[in-house]
Amino acid sequence: MALIITGIDVSKGIAIGNVHLLKRGAPEVFEHKLKKNEIKQEVERFQNAVDEASNHLRSIRDTIPQDTSMDVAAFIDSHILMLKDSMLRKAPAGIIRKQRCNAEWALKIQHDKLISVFEQMEDDYLRTRINDVEHVINLIQQILKDQLYTVQIDTQPLKGRIIVADDLTPADTVLMQTQNIAGFITELGGPLSHTAILARSLGIPAIVGIQGARSLLHQEEQIIIDGANGMVLAGADQKTVKTYQQRQRKEKEARRKLRALRGVSARTRDGTRISLQANIELAEDMIVLRQSGADGVGLYRTEFLYIDREKPADEDEQLNAYRKIIRVLKGKPLTIRTLDLGAEKEFDPNFQGPLTQNPALGLRAIRRSLKDIDLFKQQLRAILRASSSGPVRILLPMITSHTELVQSLAILERAKEELEGEQYLYDQNIPVGAMIEVPAAALSAHIFAKQLNFMSIGTNDLIQYTLAIDRIDDQVNYLYDPLHPSVLKLVDLTLRAGWRAGIPVAMCGEMAGDPRYTKLLLGLGLQEFSTHPSNLLEIKQIINRSSISELEKPARKILNTTRPTRIDSLVDALNG
Ligand code: PEP
Ligand code: MG
Repeated sequence: MALIITGIDVSKGIAIGNVHLLKRGAPEVFEHKLKKNEIKQEVERFQNAVDEASNHLRSIRDTIPQDTSMDVAAFIDSHILMLKDSMLRKAPAGIIRKQRCNAEWALKIQHDKLISVFEQMEDDYLRTRINDVEHVINLIQQILKDQLYTVQIDTQPLKGRIIVADDLTPADTVLMQTQNIAGFITELGGPLSHTAILARSLGIPAIVGIQGARSLLHQEEQIIIDGANGMVLAGADQKTVKTYQQRQRKEKEARRKLRALRGVSARTRDGTRISLQANIELAEDMIVLRQSGADGVGLYRTEFLYIDREKPADEDEQLNAYRKIIRVLKGKPLTIRTLDLGAEKEFDPNFQGPLTQNPALGLRAIRRSLKDIDLFKQQLRAILRASSSGPVRILLPMITSHTELVQSLAILERAKEELEGEQYLYDQNIPVGAMIEVPAAALSAHIFAKQLNFMSIGTNDLIQYTLAIDRIDDQVNYLYDPLHPSVLKLVDLTLRAGWRAGIPVAMCGEMAGDPRYTKLLLGLGLQEFSTHPSNLLEIKQIINRSSISELEKPARKILNTTRPTRIDSLVDALNG
């Protein structure tokens, strides 16, 4: 009988193979008291184990094939670095001496202490680093107990198998990839764990968070992983297996074609070069950014420098964060959006904004920045200083009135004067753009455009504010419609205002990354798309197969249609 189990989809793709169960767990640890004369030797035993763990990881890092993304080695390096940290190297040695206990027990005490610190962190990404601490400590424990277990130890070849484990470390993931496994399932882990990120980066179909997977699935039975849907299928009949094999072949072929587009630029069949840029905000976006072949960053959300941390990043920390990306971009432009604080995103609980029941309509984004000019100017100074290292553009969020634009530009001038006085270098002609994300801005785009170097349509908010639906309220989600005639009209208005003023107009909301809308947007005249790097190749493929001259007329027709079902069918027809 077929069994379907679901978990967290962390890496898409279909895998069909026989189960290989990894029945290992963290070694059990007990306390022994030591005699005074045994302490020195026990500390040495502990330190040797840490060194051995480090050597073990180094030897795995050396097996990573040359053509694998740099980030794979970087994850293993981060574990090697942890092994150098005094929290793992010195602190347990101190516990051995102080409590006269065995190394395993001392390490367990330190483990519990570190885990409770990590558990209290508010940032989701940092909290998932608990996983890395567990992995590294577990490795030392295995060495101390002489039970080092790696996927290499298994005598059976792993090629084509689906590994089912409690948890996998980044090092395991690398070892498995070099042995050509088909996919993996783990009982632990979440979408942000390093192992999940690595699986995506290495292109291994994977599902995590299936509790009890090792009891539900049997050694050697054939199973199917449907990575995109987070589904595992056991005991499937031949017909189902065949269907999945066909899907697998199609997906592989589609992926191969997409990968081939990495080094190719986006250009329509009738010769228009389209700029395809990336939206980034989290550390792991950098991995995909490197591999995406993006023409630059069209939206760098900077809120992470301010919220979910003890205090906001100061000017130098911001500067370093911006420079890091400038280095990755190697001369391609970086568009830094100034803070979109406010609404539910606030770093300072004491910030005295007016009490509001509708935070999305409250003191948010540029409104919030103009209320805290010192904080705003500090960010502008960091962005300006970063502009001396590579091409940088400034993007102002949620500009609604002309006054806000004038005030923002005046503060930018003040920041420039300060830097001039302090003899800092910066790009004197740094381009300044505004997000067009409220209907008022779209209607005034022709006025704003006179003072801007570019505009960027933020459809996530533009749709929210045009249709009066809270984008985070599940109850009204069904009303969220990028194809609503009013939304399309505002997009069109903004594009036209840009052409008339002779400045580029980009789109950086989710609509730009959804393949359903690519042809329509091309037909309306959009020539700069910015989206999460993982969508870029698919959008590029559509662009390179399209001809703008063939899309203009049907796009105008859609723009002039009012009945939603008719719009839907016209868009379907356009997409063929
Ligand atoms: C938008 O509103 O479309 C946008 C890109 O900004 P955010 O999603 O950060 O509000
Ligand atoms: Mg927005």
